[in-house]
Amino acid sequence: MIKKLAITGGTHGNELTGVYLVKKWQKSPKLVERSSFITVTQLMNQQAIKEVRRYIDHDLNRSFGLSALADKTLDSYEAKLAKELNGLLGKKGGCNPNVDFIVDLHTTTSNMGLSIVVSNESVTTWRAIAYLCQMQPKLKVYRWRGDIENSFVDSIAPHGFAIEVGAVPQGVLRADLFLETEALVYHLLDFVEKENQGEILALTDELEVYEHEKLLDYPRDEQGDIVAMVHQERQGRDFTLIEQGEPLFLTLENQTITYEGDPRYTLFVNESAYYEKGFAMTLAQKVKVVIKY
Ligand SMILES: [Zn+2]
Repeated sequence: MIKKLAITGGTHGNELTGVYLVKKWQKSPKLVERSSFITVTQLMNQQAIKEVRRYIDHDLNRSFGLSALADKTLDSYEAKLAKELNGLLGKKGGCNPNVDFIVDLHTTTSNMGLSIVVSNESVTTWRAIAYLCQMQPKLKVYRWRGDIENSFVDSIAPHGFAIEVGAVPQGVLRADLFLETEALVYHLLDFVEKENQGEILALTDELEVYEHEKLLDYPRDEQGDIVAMVHQERQGRDFTLIEQGEPLFLTLENQTITYEGDPRYTLFVNESAYYEKGFAMTLAQKVKVVIKY
C-alpha cells in the first residue's frame, strides 16, 4: 500500500520540465490528488533553480549515499541539502519512511525520448514501470547499475525511479516533452490508485529493459582534455545498436575512431552534463526483466 508519493523536480536546477511541472502542481494540487494516497510535490535544489545551474557545489543526484548522509563533516551546499531532503522524504533505509514512492523528474540533452532510469528492485517499482510501458508504448527503460552505492534522490524512498526526457537543452522548456512527462506522471498516479484499491491489473509478464553495462569516456590527451567528439553518425542515436567498426568518435583533426567491441546499445549520447563526469555515452544490453505479482 502506497500512502504517500512524492513528485520531485529541480533536482538539477537547469532541467526546467520538472521545475515547471512541480510549480504547476503546487498551484493546482487537485491535478495530482488521488483518493487512496497523499501526493506531495517538492522543488529540490532551489538555489540551483534560481541560478539555472545543475548544482551549486556538486551533483545533488549523487548525494544520497548512506555514508554521505551520515557524515556530519560534509558541509557543502548539496551535502546539507541532501540531509534536509532525506529528513523530509526519507529517511533512506529507515523502517518508517515519510514517503513510499518518489518519482524524480529530469531532462537530458541526449535524444533519450521518453525514458525511465531505475535502480530500485522493488516489486511495486517494477509493476509501476510495466504499467507505464503499457500506457505509453514508446517509453524506454534503462536499468542503472553504475555506482557502488545508489545515491540518487529516488533511493531515499522504498520505491521509485527517475523520468528522463530529451533531447532538450539545459535551461529550456519544450512543450511536447513537458506534456509527455505530465501524462506519464498521471499514469503513475492512476497505477498507484488502482494498486491501492486492489484492482487486478493485467500487466505484462516480462519487460524489455536496457541494462547498464559501462560508461564510455571521450578520447583525452595526457592533461585530460577531450581530443575527439561524438561522431556525427552516432549523434542522437540513443537506444540504438552500435556494432564493431562503426564510427564512434571524430577527432579534432577529422579522424574517425571506430567502436571496438560486442554489439551494444548507446544511451545518453553526448549528454552535456556528463562531460565533467568523464563520459560520452553509456553502453547497455537489452535484457528481459520478469514482472512479479
Ligand atoms: Zn537531471
